[in-house]
Amino acid sequence: MKHWKNLGLAAVLAASATGATAQETFINIGTGGQTGVYFVVGQSICRLVNRGTADHNVRCTAPSTGGSIANINAIAAGDMEMGVAQSDWQFHAYNGSSEFEGNQVGDLRAVFSVHPEPFTVVARADAGISTFADLQGMRVNVGNPGSGQRATMEVVLDALGWTMDDFSLASELAPAEQAAALGDNNVDAIIYTVGHPNGSIQEAASTVESVLVPVTGPEIEALIADNPYYAAATIPGGMYEGTPDDVTTFGVRATFVTSAEVPDDVIYTVVAAVFDNFDRFRGLHPAFANLSEESMIADGLSAPLHPGAERYYRERGWIE
Ligand code: GLU
Repeated sequence: MKHWKNLGLAAVLAASATGATAQETFINIGTGGQTGVYFVVGQSICRLVNRGTADHNVRCTAPSTGGSIANINAIAAGDMEMGVAQSDWQFHAYNGSSEFEGNQVGDLRAVFSVHPEPFTVVARADAGISTFADLQGMRVNVGNPGSGQRATMEVVLDALGWTMDDFSLASELAPAEQAAALGDNNVDAIIYTVGHPNGSIQEAASTVESVLVPVTGPEIEALIADNPYYAAATIPGGMYEGTPDDVTTFGVRATFVTSAEVPDDVIYTVVAAVFDNFDRFRGLHPAFANLSEESMIADGLSAPLHPGAERYYRERGWIE
């Protein structure tokens, strides 16, 4: 049986300014690498939540983690209350498919979606890579196990009929290490499913002459046509040195998820902290610039909405 660890056992008695005691509830938000955007999502949400701790007694932390799959697994185990996860892995976790076959997370609940995440391939300019097919025989960082990009990379390889053996090297570096590996010529290309702009690819593009590689073709079109959580995506030209033109690929959405076991009041508090201060939230990262409330409560969500989030959206008149 699943045991709910954090909310019960980690709650402590904290003295308030008046000397009275109030019980604080601690929540942990799973993010990703420190040079990605998930880390900023988690840190931003916690910053807004923690401004109101004196009123609602919820206190939030958002440590760096391995990414989407690691976050969903931590939520399923009751080790974390909330986390950021790609829309494809939210879908598969809730439905028990793909990576989550035999390991369904039926208690997974959607809270809202955040920024779009194009599946991004960055190659050294001197490697002569201009299409995804050119990666064959190359040294490629396929991402750390537990990350969304690693799992989505496996889906792409399956679709192409490739395996990891099609690369001369398939390294498993985490996002914080991949730009240096590209710059040091330890790999020819790196893969990252991530919002733009982000620190990791900025670091790569400013360290070594590099290009963003389009990810297109009939197999990718079929992935988009057959799966609701994939869409065509464009990385705008001019965002990174070496890539003046738009680059076409496919992508997912970053989503914010939790467990049905987390109390409604806690989720309501977190959601209210974000949407009561939405302009402030949107200003915390350039990848959030185009966010709208309307798309955040609908796009990329396949697990049911958590009732605490639903309550807030209903109060705002956004849902029936
Ligand atoms: N999409 C990546 C993952 O799921 C993380 C991207 C980021 O940290 O911004 O692992």
